[in-house]
Amino acid sequence: MIVMKFGGTSVGTADAMKQVAAIVQNDIRIKKVIVLSACSGITNKLLYLAKKSAYIDEQERISLIEEIIHFHSDIIFSLGINSSILDEQFTLIAKDIYEFCEGISLLGECTPRSLDRLSSFGELLSTLIFYEYVQEIGLDVELVNASLFMTTDSTYTSANIDYDSMILQVHKTIIPKFEHKDIIITQGFIGSDANDIVTTLGRGGSDFSAALIGMAIKAKEIVIWTDVSGIASADPKLISNAHTIEKMSFQEARLLSFFGAKVLHPETILPAIKHNIPVIVKNTFSPHEKGTVIVSDSSYTVSKIISITSKQAVGLVGFTHKTFSITQKMSIIGEFLDTLQCDTYAFGCIENNMYAVISLDKINFLSKAESLKDWEISYKEQSFIAAIGPNNVSNKNPDLLSIFNEIICRYNSMPILLSGISEYALCAVINQKFLHQTLISLHSELIDQ
Ligand code: ADP
Ligand code: ASP
Ligand code: MG
Repeated sequence: MIVMKFGGTSVGTADAMKQVAAIVQNDIRIKKVIVLSACSGITNKLLYLAKKSAYIDEQERISLIEEIIHFHSDIIFSLGINSSILDEQFTLIAKDIYEFCEGISLLGECTPRSLDRLSSFGELLSTLIFYEYVQEIGLDVELVNASLFMTTDSTYTSANIDYDSMILQVHKTIIPKFEHKDIIITQGFIGSDANDIVTTLGRGGSDFSAALIGMAIKAKEIVIWTDVSGIASADPKLISNAHTIEKMSFQEARLLSFFGAKVLHPETILPAIKHNIPVIVKNTFSPHEKGTVIVSDSSYTVSKIISITSKQAVGLVGFTHKTFSITQKMSIIGEFLDTLQCDTYAFGCIENNMYAVISLDKINFLSKAESLKDWEISYKEQSFIAAIGPNNVSNKNPDLLSIFNEIICRYNSMPILLSGISEYALCAVINQKFLHQTLISLHSELIDQ
């Protein structure tokens, strides 16, 4: 058994869906679970619609809904699907969306629970259309709703998996289907809580769904199909000559995604690591390319920087306190950030002040925190850059470190060079204006050399 997950761009047009169907059809391994994302851009549109429905007028609401419905009916039309079941199901989903948004409008507020319900329609629509299409071309498939097995708690918008229940439900709902079907299609991203209310696993969560299903069915491999030819030495949309990395360790892939490479959801890796399932990242639009294989541990060691990654906007927060020593500051702030469950990308001390680089969405909590009321907290929006390479990269490789520092300082008069939270990365916080130039130079001088 294998799992194949196709991301938003892979199902974003009728042609892309045909391409996905061809990949599934040409794969000679018999039993497969196909996990689909919503069509590209649709989750954003649904979330926008949900939030806006609380205060826009009826006409505006209907026109936003129609945009989403027409987008999908155009795909159905271009695929030439002629199925009364699809028409019926599609009409039901459309009606649900209208009614649900009307409900949000009447209440005048959109709760996280409503956000999840509405954003789940993206995956429900993409899987429904794909399912009907592949049936028409003669594949032996079944569609299984992910809410039946992806059991979570009720933390809407980023629900936590109830692993025992999820594995049990996968064994009840998916495995028996393989007795009479070869291909099971299901939604990524969607789950449901103990009261059968729809939840979601967080943005980009379909990769995680794929890894969880892979773990539960003991898949031979998990293939993440996307719009680039694997994991590259930098985001190919930013650095045109970035090259695909053929093989990487879980550790490197996790770091890369944690530090900003959108290609994989970080959590994707965990269920696979634990069960030694290889994850392969491949290009839907160039399926013959090998892509990147992510293996459980590095049987090889890298001696140079393998990839550069960035986050365009992060919060650089300075913490000053008159009485605490630097070690005390580090431990108090470190603990505080932990309780915030905050992604902390780097730490550093400059002249007795402590700095942390954190995701922007947690910034507000800092100024309101009672336990930090004696602290002076400053904040700046910056870009973050990480170069990922060998273990203990900053100590064992003074040459790499000095090239890195030199490039950062070349474009930025006041860069802040910090210790990343990992020994495998060199990190810096820079002015957003210089991000692209700095990325290009780092790539050409540290990787292309
Ligand atoms: P999907 O919709 O298939 O889930 P995503 O948009 O989530 O795809 O992720 C794929 C995108 O990740 C690529 O289009 C690429 O721009 C971006 N990306 C960022 N960093 C990297 C990297 N180092 N290697 C490959 N892709 C990257
Ligand atoms: N559709 C969801 C999102 O856009 C999940 C995913 O694509 O992985 O975040
Ligand atoms: Mg993705």
